[in-house]
Amino acid sequence: MAVNKQSNIKAILDTDLEKLLKKTKQYNSFVDGELKCIYCGTPITIDNLSIIIPEVRCKNVSLNFCCNNSVCLAKFREEHE
Ligand SMILES: [Zn+2]
Repeated sequence: MAVNKQSNIKAILDTDLEKLLKKTKQYNSFVDGELKCIYCGTPITIDNLSIIIPEVRCKNVSLNFCCNNSVCLAKFREEHE
């Protein structure tokens, strides 16, 4: 699965999120509250998830997450402009 880092950044629906997380084998981590915002380290939930940032490592895609904290969103924007 080829993922373009820039164009795949988008908000997605919960059902799509579940599928994505299962595909990247991060679903259990998500359910266990082990996925964290890459900026502040807050555990990511459906309620505070704002941006999904796909990362390709050795052809495996894993997902990074940004929470809905305005400080984190500002950092994300700085990095992706
Ligand atoms: Zn954050």
